[in-house]
Amino acid sequence: MAYPIRCTCGKLKGTFSPDQNINRCVCYCANCQAFARFLQREQEILDAMGGTRIIQTIPANVTFTEGIENLACIRLTESGLLRWYAACCNMPIGNTLPTPNPSFIGLIQTCLSADLTALDNSLGPIRMYVNTESAIGENKPKSAGVLSGTLRVFGMMLKARLNGRYKQNPLFVMESGAPIVTPHVLSTEELKRVKHVV
Ligand SMILES: [Zn+2]
Ligand SMILES: [Zn+2]
Repeated sequence: MAYPIRCTCGKLKGTFSPDQNINRCVCYCANCQAFARFLQREQEILDAMGGTRIIQTIPANVTFTEGIENLACIRLTESGLLRWYAACCNMPIGNTLPTPNPSFIGLIQTCLSADLTALDNSLGPIRMYVNTESAIGENKPKSAGVLSGTLRVFGMMLKARLNGRYKQNPLFVMESGAPIVTPHVLSTEELKRVKHVV
């Protein structure tokens, strides 16, 4: 089963073809919330408690078929994750490490134009809830599945390294190991704004 990736304006298109290498999670961390604010799409990306639904997988499962030139990338800080989005309409795509190996992407579910029930049915339910202490509101969700989820992700990264699939990565130039676009590191001012520090 393959899922279409489509930004809101339709310029960026691609496909997510999950194999068994996936781990679904909701991340409540302040940085994921800041990324949603950076894109000014909190309503669509974040749930009521500030959680971002993410499918952790390997980039080899993701292909872009149209409009890849619209991809842009930020880092909240010099050492932060690479946070990818379609700059044409501020659609989040996912988070990666700064290098193509270890092979990893946290695909943000918002970019998949699939209905949630279909995703639940074919990929299985979300089992991992992380960084719940940063959730918004009094009633924090319970942290769950962190150890098993983390082991799963390490397993998929190791497998991609051993079978060479890490070399399939639409977001990096494999020869140099550099991302296909230069990430913009947020300035102190920009970071303050998206972190809502007042
Ligand atoms: Zn777009
Ligand atoms: Zn997060």
